Amino acid sequence: MTSPVPTDIDQAVADQHKRVLLAAPRGYCAGVDRAVVTVQKALDLYGPPVYVRKQIVHNKHVVATLEKRGAIFVDETDEVPEGATVIFSAHGIAPVVRDQARALSLRTIDATCPLVTKVHREARRFASDDYDILLIGHAGHEEVVGTSGEAPDNIVLVESPEHADTVEVRNPEKLVWLSQTTLSVDETMETVRRLKQRFPKLQDPPSDDICYATQNRQLAVKQMAPRTDLMIVVGSRNSSNSVRLVEVAVEHGARDGHLVDYADEIDEAWLAGVTTVGVTSGASVPEILVRDVLDFLAERGYADVEAITAAEESLLFALPKELRRDLKAAGISDQMKHDAGSLSDAESLR
Ligand code: SF4
Repeated sequence: MTSPVPTDIDQAVADQHKRVLLAAPRGYCAGVDRAVVTVQKALDLYGPPVYVRKQIVHNKHVVATLEKRGAIFVDETDEVPEGATVIFSAHGIAPVVRDQARALSLRTIDATCPLVTKVHREARRFASDDYDILLIGHAGHEEVVGTSGEAPDNIVLVESPEHADTVEVRNPEKLVWLSQTTLSVDETMETVRRLKQRFPKLQDPPSDDICYATQNRQLAVKQMAPRTDLMIVVGSRNSSNSVRLVEVAVEHGARDGHLVDYADEIDEAWLAGVTTVGVTSGASVPEILVRDVLDFLAERGYADVEAITAAEESLLFALPKELRRDLKAAGISDQMKHDAGSLSDAESLR
């Protein structure tokens, strides 16, 4: 995305009224908080190394910091030494991965977000009733691979609204759609609209698959975007919900939008002629990275910060049951609260 060339008058106006709109909610969701604390508690309890299949959450900084503490991230379970501990990431796994871990006698801790597990359950249930399942999502994303693995013979992936016009099913009379949890709400609804034109009997999921955190972060961005010249989204490129936030911002009126992992990736040229900067972060982003962006902006005259609150969030998930059991046996607290707090301000992740 390119920045328009400012005039001298634009620049003078921008300098007078520079400010930041800061999205709320932003950053860590309940599933990410739980997954990150799971790795930390496992390191405390079992000692390093603890293996993690795939990135525990899609954030470069979180992964690098946990690596420093002794987590080893692997792509596949067969890279884990026999008998070692492996944590499954927040994005979920196909059942075959669980079988592989069992065959290698690995100790497993499943940090799959409960809201992803809910979609897996829906997939199994509709597959057992022999429905065709149209799964809206991005090919190759770990969550989609995991969900598809629950019912490979029944699930057909639909990747975009355009794909909805051509996708083929076995039985248009017995058909349901499910989705990845981190999609654009608007684009997904467009995909569903097109699918229903072709398949009038298409059933909706029993409840929203796009999760509360994805929806709330998009809602805040939609409220901010029309007042925003530049939207800065803190998040990693492989984070689906973060990438969607940039798209949603530009679709809803932000003149420009960029995704950055760190404040030092902000190109000063993006700020030329910019009065209002919107700032938000994806669901896997620790707050300290947003603070760094705010400091960067304040040093350049954007010290006035207005919070835009689209929703309140208080959801907290319990740690995985296998970890709670071992923590309890060792007399260590299994509470999320205090640990999650320190992780959310991310001092421990620096
Ligand atoms: S983004 Fe949603 S589905 Fe993904 S981990 Fe967070 S709460 Fe769970």
